[in-house]
Amino acid sequence: MRAGSRAAARAVAVASAIALSLGAVGADAYCRTTSCEGGSTGARCVPAQAGDCGVELHWPSPCVSFDLQKDASSDVSLDSATAVFHAAFASWTTASCASGGTPRMEMVDLGPVACDKHEYSQQQGNANLIVFRDKSWPHAGQGSTLALTTVTFNLDTGEIYDADMELNSAQVTFTTVDTAVEFDLLSVATHECGHFLGLSHAALPDATMYADYKPHSTSLRSLNEDDIAAICAVYPPGEAIPEACDATPRHGFSSECAGAKPEDAATTGSCTIARSPRTSGSIAALALIALGALAVGARRRCG
Ligand SMILES: [Zn+2]
Repeated sequence: MRAGSRAAARAVAVASAIALSLGAVGADAYCRTTSCEGGSTGARCVPAQAGDCGVELHWPSPCVSFDLQKDASSDVSLDSATAVFHAAFASWTTASCASGGTPRMEMVDLGPVACDKHEYSQQQGNANLIVFRDKSWPHAGQGSTLALTTVTFNLDTGEIYDADMELNSAQVTFTTVDTAVEFDLLSVATHECGHFLGLSHAALPDATMYADYKPHSTSLRSLNEDDIAAICAVYPPGEAIPEACDATPRHGFSSECAGAKPEDAATTGSCTIARSPRTSGSIAALALIALGALAVGARRRCG
């Protein structure tokens, strides 16, 4: 995309999230993140729901890269985090589609990388970054947001250009074990990888793409049938991916930050997985507050 062109700038957006779907659900109940009129983001669901809008987001190539930030976290080593995210992406790319085969999508690890900023440059190389925020959480949702995936996409076509994940290790302790689980990194990672690949929140609590995570749980590690239907709809099984699978990011790969300013993208936004509070009565309210605050932030930065 050319810099400086108003039309070109408008065609790029950073995705955002995501209203909780409270309507009726049935088999294959899932939602995809979409680019809607006026540069806003929304969702399109199966079965269709009131408020569905826009063009579904998707990676245009079957080969996509991701990169762990080299410092990882004081709680999770780079090796452990790398293993977790490989497993999280593999849950999606090896899902057994009802039509036979697996989603036509291959994830390639080009990291670790030095850059620790979520950014997308239209002039320089990029990385699809996964970074822990050990010191402070720089976004809305203090105390209720576990992680955030920011997706940059073409407003008109829904093609994803870049995706970055941030993990709120400043406010919770992520663990990678099967017992004495605090905040299960593999559960959170698998959910965020769904956003990375273009999925929105699902309404059923046993879906990995459900918006809330219950502390000490590992349940989001495993995709349910709705998650599988969703990923198979976005990336239907097809011909074999070429061995020379080119996962180079748009405008090239860079381990270093490009120094891109937010204006490089026309709009910014984000998607979160909200932590379930202990009392069930306030789960929806707290999640909705967190997501609403992010939506406001996205609009403010869209100007
Ligand atoms: Zn989410």
